[in-house]
This record gives sequence, structure tokens and C-alpha cells, in this order.
Amino acid sequence: MPRAPMPSDWDTLPDEELLDVRMCDLPLRIEHELADRVEQLRSELRASGLTAHVHFYISDEWFTPDGATAIAIPFYLAHPRLMKLERKQMLEVEGGTDKECMRILRHEAGHALDTAFRLHFKRQHRELFGSFAQPYPDFYKPKPKSRKYVLHLPAWYAQAHPAEDFAETFAVWLTSRSQWRRRYRGWPALQKLEYIDELMQELAGQKPKNRLRTKVEPLSALRGTLREHYRRKRERYDFEWPAVYDRDLRRIFSDDPRHKNKPSAASFLRSVRREVRQIVAEGTGVHQYTIDHVLQNMIDRCKELKVRVATPFRETRRRVMIVLTVQVMNVLHSGYHRIAV
Ligand SMILES: [Zn+2]
Repeated sequence: MPRAPMPSDWDTLPDEELLDVRMCDLPLRIEHELADRVEQLRSELRASGLTAHVHFYISDEWFTPDGATAIAIPFYLAHPRLMKLERKQMLEVEGGTDKECMRILRHEAGHALDTAFRLHFKRQHRELFGSFAQPYPDFYKPKPKSRKYVLHLPAWYAQAHPAEDFAETFAVWLTSRSQWRRRYRGWPALQKLEYIDELMQELAGQKPKNRLRTKVEPLSALRGTLREHYRRKRERYDFEWPAVYDRDLRRIFSDDPRHKNKPSAASFLRSVRREVRQIVAEGTGVHQYTIDHVLQNMIDRCKELKVRVATPFRETRRRVMIVLTVQVMNVLHSGYHRIAV
């Protein structure tokens, strides 16, 4: 049955109705703030002498299609109503701020140029970054102290795969005032930055070998509803983690009858949930959705243990943040499933 065209006031639909809209029916374009950010990236590339034309289009996630010099931008960044929905569904809007969006765009530009000039076939490239042919892992186990990799996107993303290492290193190189020479002095990662610096000087003004403009999975081809999209997306951020929190929880809270008139630990955790989740996300680079999952497990366990608050509010909150950070780092080291960008 043909669907009715989207009403012009679609952005006033309540969440429940909006979730039933198919992605292909969203009338979105790269405009306003998003267009400004894309233009900023283009001007940064031009300023570095890189004239390869990169195409931008809207899809469901960030990616650069194989074999094309193009960057797909997730739909929610194209409209404030969809950003609001993203936050409700995923607890944070990845790339929602100017700074964060530029970080991801510079990273994607690295992938796009790699494709445009087939850079990963170069011998030196393989020696420095590793073989791009190695399979993409479902998860990776970053070493936070490693100095072989630059730090750009959260969660030590350069360590996810040689292709990501290149995109991250390129992004640091492209970022104006990143002062990479000073920032990475003495780090083995500096060698990769210097290689990119030379390589980009060579490429300045050159026409790319690969100029395919294929748009893989543009928004207009995505027939699924937003509800289906978010169900799949949340599944990807979930994780199986047989955590045992009991010892930690008993250190923070108490089941001593002396505290029987104090608030329950579960209600305390619920009251600080949003604040604590944000702080730990900033500190660890892990998506808030994953952190919230750990918090939910802790809340459930507190109910079973029937523990209560036993120390003053600020002290209890401080201890919760420490325990949560440790648990989140354990999740990270057990293999963090970051959605690839
Ligand atoms: Zn990437």
C-alpha cells in the first residue's frame, strides 16, 4: 500500500508516532549548521592543498562507502527534532556538538582520501599502520597508555583497526592548531604523523585515482522505520558482561539494620543516574548507553541485596563514580563494541 507523503509538520509528531516513520520518508537535507560544518571541513582540506572532491550525503550512520570518495552522515544530525529523538533513544547524540561533529568529519575525511588515492596499497603505509586487509574485529581491547596511537575520537579508537589508525592520525594532522609535533614528541605515533604530513604534501593539488560517486545506502533507500533502526542500534551497544558487583556495592552501601530509615541504594542510584553517567562517559570515552546498562545492572543488584545509603550524599556519589568507572573500564578491557565510524 502506498504511504501518504510526510506531513510538513512531521517534526511535531510525538516520539511514538515518529518512531513508526520510515527513514526514507524523512525529508532531510544537509543544511543549516550541518552544512556549515561540512563547509568547514572542505575549507580545511583546501587549506591543506587537498582538492579531491568529497561527496556528503545522509544515511543512518557515519561511514565512508568502500570504493567511493564520499562520507555518509547520520540523519539525526540533519534536524533538531531527530537529535532530540536520538538522545531519548540512545542517551547521547554522537557528533551533536560542533566540536564533536568536526572531529568525526575529519576522521571520515581520512577514510575518504585513503579511498580516493588508494593510499593503503603503499608499502610504507602498510608498515606504519598495518594491513587494512586484516578483518574488522567485532570489538577491540585498547591499551589506554599506548603511545603508538594518536588520541582523537573517544575510547582509544585508533587502536580498533589499521584503517581507523590511519583515519585518526589523519584527523589529528588536519586539525588546525592541534600542534601535533609538540603534542606527540617522543611518541612512536609521531612517525605516522610525519608520514602523513609528507604524503599530503605529495598529494596536494593531485586528482584522485578513484572518483566513484556511489552513494551506498542513502537515506532514500532505507525502508525500515526509526523504531527498527533504534532497536538494532541499541542491540549493538549492549554487551554480555557477567559482572559481579556485590563486593563493590557492599563497600558503598549497607544492609545493617542501623540504616533502615535511610534511602534505598537503588533509589539513590536512580537519583544520580544521569549526572554520574555523563561524568563517567566523559572520563572513559564509552557511550552513555553502555554505561547506563552497567548502572542498571547495579541498580537491579542493589534491590536484590536490599542495601541502603550509609554515608553522606556527596561521599556516596563519589564512591559510586569510582566503582562505576572501574566497572566500565572492565567492560572496555573485555572488548568494547564501539559502533564503527
Ligand atoms: Zn573510521
